[in-house]
Amino acid sequence: MKTLVYIATTNTHKVEEIKEIAPEWIDLLPSPEKIEVVEDGETFLENSVKKAIVYGKKLKQPVIADDSGLVIYSLGNFPGVMSARFMEDYSYKDKMKTILRMLEGKDRRAAFVCSATFFDPLKNILVSVEGRVEGKIAEEIRGNGGFGYDPFFVPDGFDRTFGEIPHLKKKLSHRAQAFKKLFLILSKVLEV
Ligand code: IMP
Repeated sequence: MKTLVYIATTNTHKVEEIKEIAPEWIDLLPSPEKIEVVEDGETFLENSVKKAIVYGKKLKQPVIADDSGLVIYSLGNFPGVMSARFMEDYSYKDKMKTILRMLEGKDRRAAFVCSATFFDPLKNILVSVEGRVEGKIAEEIRGNGGFGYDPFFVPDGFDRTFGEIPHLKKKLSHRAQAFKKLFLILSKVLEV
């Protein structure tokens, strides 16, 4: 029998990317309702744990949550946990253009980070893992694939942005790495 797990997000891109690597023993469903979670943690870990607990307690079902973002080392890990909230009322194109200006003359090394958490309120099990993909910020915005900051992030080993290689991104991203680890641990913890 498959294990029913809700995904604590309404971001359809995230749902698609997580489903892409989900094992066959898990039945992943988008949350039936949007639940407000104040993401006031200082780390991706704090926020993903908080999301999983709030959603799990409300839905009374096992859930997985993702908190993720971009960190640019020369800008002190900015925008980090503020990735979604930085220039919130502006398009991602505008946000990226602003960051490109902030990066003029600075080192462009960056990473996408994803903290993935599973919480089962019925068995009181919580598991968190982190996935990370290193790379750099391109000189310009390129590609229409993916979402968010994908069109200006170039992963190590490639010369194209995630926005130009969305099919590959799904396999090597911070999210893919975090959820692969999470599903592997869960297969042992839940004895599926
Ligand atoms: P969250 O929904 O609070 O986890 O916010 C994540 C934010 O980080 C998103 O709104 C994007 O701005 C950014 N982000 C996270 N993952 C990705 C990704 O895979 N590609 C591009 N941007 C991402």
